[in-house]
Order: sequence, then C-alpha cells, then structure tokens
Amino acid sequence: MTPRVFLASRNAKKLAEMERILREHLTSVDVLGLDDVPAYDEPVEDQPTFEGNALLKARAGLAATGLPSIADDSGLCVDALNGMPGVLSARWSGPPKSDDRNNELLLAQLADVPDERRGAHFTCAVAFCAPGLDEVVVEGRMDGRIIHETRGSGGFGYDVVFVADEHPGPTTAELSVEEKDAISHRGKALRELAPQVARLLRSG
Ligand code: IMP
Repeated sequence: MTPRVFLASRNAKKLAEMERILREHLTSVDVLGLDDVPAYDEPVEDQPTFEGNALLKARAGLAATGLPSIADDSGLCVDALNGMPGVLSARWSGPPKSDDRNNELLLAQLADVPDERRGAHFTCAVAFCAPGLDEVVVEGRMDGRIIHETRGSGGFGYDVVFVADEHPGPTTAELSVEEKDAISHRGKALRELAPQVARLLRSG
C-alpha cells in the first residue's frame, strides 16, 4: 500500500505551497490534507518558538489521525521590531486574523524606519511525527527587507511587503510560485525534510 502523510494546516495558501513542494520530493507517498480526515480539535499555538508550535501541530495531527503528520509554523521577524511579529505573525493586528490589517499595521510601525534598517527574514519550522519513529524538525529561512507599500497579488500574508535578498526588485507576492518556492523559508525547510521523511517511512 502507498504510504500516506497528513499535512496538518488550516491555511489553504500555505497548504498549497507545502503540497506543491512535498509532492516533488515524496513521489511515492499519498499526501492528505485536513479535508481528507475527520475534523479534530486543533491545538492552540501557544509555544514561544516556531519549532515548538510546529511540533505541537504535528503531534496533534498524529494523535487525531494515527497518520504520519507534517506541520509547519512560520512567521516574519523584523529587525527594527526586535524580531517581532515572529510567532505572532498570523495574528499581529489582533482577531479576526487578517493579512491586510497585519500589513497595514506593520507598515505603520515601520513608517519612520529608513531603508538601511528595514531588514527582515521569514522563518519556517517543519515538524514530522509518526507512530514509532523519531520526531524530526527542520528550519528554513529567507532574508530580505520590508518595503514602504504593498505590491503584488501572489503568495499570502506578508509577501506583498517583502523583497527577498535572493530576488531583489519584486516582492515575494510578485514572484511566480516556482521562483518563490526555490528561495522561500518553506521551500528550504521542506526540501531538507522530504528525503528524511521518505527514508523514515520506508524504514517504518
Ligand atoms: P502560522 O504558521 O499559521 O502560525 O502563521 C504564519 C503566518 O506568518 C502567516 O499567517 C503569515 O502572516 C506569515 N507568513 C508565513 N510564511 C509566509 C510567507 O511565505 N509569506 C508571507 N507571509 C508568511
């Protein structure tokens, strides 16, 4: 039987990125999403680190489904804000979660910050938990800077205000999906994780 892996994420756009990257590297594995499994109580992301939250979500996925589970936790760390919003990225402007309001707030907070101090990076921790196998957590990072306005319509979250060092000029919301996957924190983390998952599933 083809091995199955469950991707524990509610964020449809993030999930699409994860599936796209993983499917390239886990060719003989069925990748399932939240819609493919019975609903369960998802954990509150209350850990102070990306790694802690990713593990929390992957462990909950495994406990609820019994399937090998992968979850990510990611966010934007802005130098001029001492690394914030960090693990609070999704809810930076308070409930209900809104990318538009988060970006508006971030640009307002950085309004007086000059170009040379607008450095930032995205981090993504991805955790893998499976019955009877060691847990794996890896991290990826994409460095760049925050611009002064929003630009582009691709991606999600803070992509409209972020320009990556590896792709200076366009925001990550103006890159093609292939261009973003090639340099993104999520792409880097998942490309490191995928061969380990493939090996662990074969050995399990
Ligand atoms: P969580 O991992 O679901 O807690 O939320 C991550 C949040 O970080 C998202 O809601 C976005 O605000 C932000 N984020 C993470 N990765 C990206 C990305 O690739 N582009 C833009 N924003 C991102």
